[in-house]
Amino acid sequence: MTPSTGNVLDGWRVEEYGRSGDGAPLRVFLPAGDSPPGGLLLAAQHGEEGATALLVRRILERVPARESSWAVVPVANPDGLLNGTRQNAAGVDLNRNFPAATWRPDDSFTFPPGIEDERRVPGNRTNLSSPGTHAGSEPETQALIALVERLRPPLVVDIHSPLELLLPRGAVPAGVTEALASAANLPVVDDVGGPCPGAFDDWLVDRGIPALVYEVEHAGLPALCARHLPGLVSLLRQRSPV
Ligand SMILES: [Zn+2]
Repeated sequence: MTPSTGNVLDGWRVEEYGRSGDGAPLRVFLPAGDSPPGGLLLAAQHGEEGATALLVRRILERVPARESSWAVVPVANPDGLLNGTRQNAAGVDLNRNFPAATWRPDDSFTFPPGIEDERRVPGNRTNLSSPGTHAGSEPETQALIALVERLRPPLVVDIHSPLELLLPRGAVPAGVTEALASAANLPVVDDVGGPCPGAFDDWLVDRGIPALVYEVEHAGLPALCARHLPGLVSLLRQRSPV
């Protein structure tokens, strides 16, 4: 593994694309030049999945901006990350708040953070979230929608934990999915075992943008980096992945 460059990122432009409900900046890291991005990589839409934000930070440290065409959002839900909650500061699960055709007004049930694999059975989906007062109600959701509309990425990779799988949605290039699956030894699935109404990837597919949900496992950062950085760094170095 190449050495980290500490706090200095090589050439990435940081832009604030909005503010969270509690006023935290929502930041996107953009590559050099003004060309349309080759893709959008996103993490920590769920605040209790903080390791995904750190994993993405490690990618930014390893790929100079001039060698990438990707836009990168390391923390889509900063209030949830700071509070240690899946939801944003208003108690909304952002990944149930997008104005996709699937959005529903009912509260959503998910597994509690950190639940052991063997307890992942439907009866243990006891973590209750609001999907928002209406589709697209949350400032983080609105800002991300505006960012996607502006950048029009040809592919979005949305990192979550802890399901340890790849879920391609829409016309994700098979080569991208296969390369990531092979690099990290991850299974490719066609559903995650339960409905996710109003999910970001549902909205992206409605808009004709392919999305790859990339779920890492429960693990510490060194183990996550060892397993997932090679494929993700390689993806970010591709200037035209689609
Ligand atoms: Zn998640």
